[in-house]
Amino acid sequence: NKKKVALLCGGRSGEHEVSLVSANAIAGALDRERYDVLIIAIDRQGKWWLGEHAIARMQKGEEPYGDPVHLLPEPGRQGLIRLTAQGWEEIPVQIFFPVLHGPNGEDGTIQGLLELANVPYVGCGVLASACGMDKGIMKMLFSQAGLSQVPYQVVQRLQWEKESSSVIETLEESIGYPLFVKPANMGSSVGISKASNRQALQEAFAEALLYDNKVVVEKGVEAREIEVSVLGNNEVSASIPGEIVPCNDFYDYTAKYIDDRSRLLIPAPLTQEESEALQQMAIQAFKAIDGTGLARVDFFMDKKNGQIWINEINTLPGFTSISMYPKLWQSSGLGYSDLLHRLIELAEERHQEKQ
Ligand code: ADP
Ligand code: MG
Ligand code: MG
Repeated sequence: NKKKVALLCGGRSGEHEVSLVSANAIAGALDRERYDVLIIAIDRQGKWWLGEHAIARMQKGEEPYGDPVHLLPEPGRQGLIRLTAQGWEEIPVQIFFPVLHGPNGEDGTIQGLLELANVPYVGCGVLASACGMDKGIMKMLFSQAGLSQVPYQVVQRLQWEKESSSVIETLEESIGYPLFVKPANMGSSVGISKASNRQALQEAFAEALLYDNKVVVEKGVEAREIEVSVLGNNEVSASIPGEIVPCNDFYDYTAKYIDDRSRLLIPAPLTQEESEALQQMAIQAFKAIDGTGLARVDFFMDKKNGQIWINEINTLPGFTSISMYPKLWQSSGLGYSDLLHRLIELAEERHQEKQ
């Protein structure tokens, strides 16, 4: 009596491609003794298409075959609907697994639809997803939880358009170069630049504003990048920490996905005390956003004095078999397939608690 798991991937997001790769990896690793896998590939227009071939077609920039499917925002259907020329059919699904990164997937929007439909789904709920996606809100919650962060400021588009010179002055005086400029709601380093002078700062704003009306500006630090995977609902566990050694000036899109010279150190070379402190902070961060299921929590560690700052939380981290999230669990004793099984169990537990 296998359960049917639907992997939601692609999506209307700057991280569309990355998501397709993650979903292919998950489809390949789900335990087929336990689960039947159904791929739902969401195209850049937001239409939902069924089947593995849909990923391949979308990767080539072509429209998938057949008719799109729909999830209705009303409880009780236990699956998808497909409208065809002959009428409509129901396609049963027991569990949804959003493998979507960035806006319209990692930010609570899909989670809202899944809540309305009252179906179990993997990962964080609406609130945690939204808070984890928005770097401005995330930082407020982290500071509320007493987690230390680098100095930062949130700037709205209107503020920038009306009075950029006073915004620049404030940033230069209160934070100083180098500055990192980021769209508040994005991931995979899309839209992020490092600025070391005024002209670069103006260009960085223009770039970040392509993706969001809200921009987060931070003090640039010379730091090691340490990441911790967390897993659980009410009881949360943290993996051993791993370290990223980017091949570029910072861990930008190219260093993440294109150039294969970035290295992952697992475990990160840290003292026992440092590792435990990071694990504790990761769990605190997860609780601060009201997380459930999974998240990867990323830190900076000052290269000179070892000071730790939290950078961000990612509620749907990269999930290929060579991604940090599953690799950290692998090294902590939980293999990729078992991890997927555990995530599905957590989704079902959370769903049952709500009924
Ligand atoms: P994303 O959600 O897109 O991953 P991050 O905030 O993690 O955004 O930034 C991406 C990368 O940019 C980080 O992994 C790091 O390499 C670099 N970076 C971001 N903020 C800073 C900072 N304040 N100081 C130094 N490097 C930074
Ligand atoms: Mg992120
Ligand atoms: Mg990041």
